[in-house]
Amino acid sequence: AAALYIVPTPIGNLNDISQRALDTLQEVDLIACEDTRHTAKLLSHYQINTSTWALHDHNEQYKSEQLVARLLDGQRIALVSDAGTPLISDPGYHLVNRCREAGIQVIALPGPCAAITALSAAGLPTDRFAFEGFLPAKEKARLDKIEQLKEEGRTLIFYESPRRLIDSVAALVAVLGDDRQVVVAREVTKTFESIHSLPAAEMLTWLKQDSNRSRGEIVLMVAGYRASVEDELAAPVLRTLRLLCSELP
Ligand code: SAM
Repeated sequence: AAALYIVPTPIGNLNDISQRALDTLQEVDLIACEDTRHTAKLLSHYQINTSTWALHDHNEQYKSEQLVARLLDGQRIALVSDAGTPLISDPGYHLVNRCREAGIQVIALPGPCAAITALSAAGLPTDRFAFEGFLPAKEKARLDKIEQLKEEGRTLIFYESPRRLIDSVAALVAVLGDDRQVVVAREVTKTFESIHSLPAAEMLTWLKQDSNRSRGEIVLMVAGYRASVEDELAAPVLRTLRLLCSELP
C-alpha cells in the first residue's frame, strides 16, 4: 500500500543502518533524498538500485506536491537525508505535513541521529533536553538566542559548524558565565570521534589551543540552568539564617 517511509541513514559509520532500513530502501518505488549523488554512494555500497529523486530544501514545498501525487497514485516512497534522521535539521517537514493532510500513511523507522547519539554519551542530564538546531550565524542574533535560553533548565543541544564553534562557545561564556558545563562531541561514530566536557571558559581555552579540536561535524551541548543556592533559598530565609548565625556563641 502507498506510504511514505522516513528512513534514517548513518551519520559517519556505514554500518549504522538497520536491516529494516535497507529492506525498505530496496523495496520502495522511489527514494526522495537531499543530494542524489550523496545517497548514491550509500545505495551502491549496499547494492540497492532503487531510483532517487532530489527534494531540496529551497523547493521542498513544490516538490512535495509531486511526491504526494505519486503517493496518491499508490506508490511507496522513502525519504532519506544526507545523514541521520530526515526532518531533524533536514528537509522533510512540508512533505510529511502534506502527506498527513492528504491521508497518506507516514511510517518512520528509528535510526541514527547525531543529537541523540551525542547526548547519550555526554554525561549531562538526559531526563529533559531541548534540541535547538543550529545557533544563528550572526553574532547579535546568536547572543540574543543564548540570552533567551539563559535560565532554561533542560540540557541544551545544538548542531554547530566547525567554522563557528569557537565563536559560539565564546558567546556561551559571555552570556552564561565561565562555569556552565559544555560538551563538544565531534565526528561521532567516525574514526576521529571525540567527546570532551569542560566548564565553558575552560572549553574556550581548550578549543583555541588546537584548531583540530574544532574540526569535522559537531554537536555542542550545554548543561541546563541550575539556580544557585542563594537564588533557591528565598532572601528572607537567608537573612534569618545570618541573624541566627550571628547569635551563635
Ligand atoms: N539529520 C541529521 C541528524 O539526524 O543528526 C542532522 C543533519 S544537520 C544538517 C548536520 C549537522 O548534524 C552537522 O553540521 C553536525 O552539527 C551534526 N552532525 C551530523 N553528523 C555528525 C557526527 N557524526 N558527529 C557530530 N555531529 C554530527
